[in-house]
This record gives sequence, C-alpha cells and structure tokens, in this order.
Amino acid sequence: MFTLSCEFKDNIPVFHCDTCGNCKNFIESTSYIGINRGCCWYFPKYTLMDIKNIINIGKIDFIYSLIKNANSKISQYFIEVQGFYNSIKHKVYCKNNNPQLDFDSKLFFRVCPFVGKKGCTIDFQLRPHPCNLYLCREIIKKSGESYKKYSRERKDYYSYCNYFNNSLKYEFMDKDIHFFKDFSKSLKIIKAFNIPAYEPIKLPKIKGTL
Ligand code: SF4
Ligand code: SF4
Repeated sequence: MFTLSCEFKDNIPVFHCDTCGNCKNFIESTSYIGINRGCCWYFPKYTLMDIKNIINIGKIDFIYSLIKNANSKISQYFIEVQGFYNSIKHKVYCKNNNPQLDFDSKLFFRVCPFVGKKGCTIDFQLRPHPCNLYLCREIIKKSGESYKKYSRERKDYYSYCNYFNNSLKYEFMDKDIHFFKDFSKSLKIIKAFNIPAYEPIKLPKIKGTL
C-alpha cells in the first residue's frame, strides 16, 4: 500500500508519497554506485522563480549559500548544484550493455549533493520545484486514473513557473543586469518583482497498492 498526497505552502506545492525511501528495485531508485538515494540522482537547478519563492519565505541566506557552494554552476538565469557522477563506471556500463532504454542511463551513476542517509537534507521549500513534483513511473502507474489530477496540477504549476521565470528574465534584460556579476542587486530585483500567487486546486489523497 502507498498513499500519495499534496501539500501547498508559501506558493510551493509538494507531492508526498509514503513509499519514498523504501523503493528498492524501481528503475529510478536503482544505483550502480552503491548509494541509497531513492530517485535523487538529479542535480538541483534553481530557476529565478525558485529563487523568488525562497526569498519570499525569508531564506535569502540559503541562496547566498548556493552561490558560495563550490559545486554550484551559475549562469545568467539559474544556479545548478552539481552532485556526484561516476562517468568511468557509466562508460563501462555502456560498453557492456546495449539496453533499449527510453531514458539516459546516467541516472544509475549520479547522486544529488543534498542526499543524506535519510533522504533529502533540505526542507521542501528550499528545493527547486521539479524535486517536489517528481514521481517515478511505478507510483504513477499504480496511482491509475486518479493520478490525472496530480499530473494536471503539476503541468499548471510548471507553466506558472515558466511564465514568471520569463517575466523575471525580461526584467533583468530591461535593467541590463547580469545575475552572475552582481548577486546582491540581482536578488533585490527578484525580491521586488511582483508575482501573483499560484492558485492550487485541492487534490484528494490517492491510495494505491504496489
Ligand atoms: S518517487 Fe518512486 S523512486 Fe522516487 S523515492 Fe518515491 S517511490 Fe522511490
Ligand atoms: S534536492 Fe532533495 S529532493 Fe531534490 S534531488 Fe536533491 S535530495 Fe532529492
């Protein structure tokens, strides 16, 4: 049995699945580098909209910690925190296997920098939104028709984030500000920019059997 639910707090939605962390033998939770990391192989990528949400909850210090993190790759419009990727083992795997996978097998050899022994070490409000709305194929399949509402809500929130992320980008262009070159000024612009709150729908709990 598993239960899927959705929480929405401070303009940030998160899907909760009580099987997460106990999901051996799912494709997404398979690790060939011996790290129990659920499906947290993703390298978190913070868009301007994610940064805006984090600033709005008063956690600007977290953004500064990302900027100072030696593993962060900072571009004009996002901060990506690089995790561990064992490219040597991946190359060997590709040589010895010719699988017809419909996804990039790199995931078996990657781990997010924020994974701890008990899963994610940061509060959900400090994660980029794809982390909070991701579910593996197994959970989606076993949720059946009920998942459709979750899927629609996920798409709507992504669209909302994309739209206002672009609005923030145009604000930077208009003001001729380079995010990388002047962080304090950039963060002030993001903080001052007015973005209407997302209006979530109420999602019913889903109970499924694995
Ligand atoms: S979404 Fe699926 S693979 Fe990822 S942690 Fe949850 S149960 Fe495991
Ligand atoms: S930030 Fe947390 S939820 Fe996102 S991939 Fe990393 S460990 Fe997983």
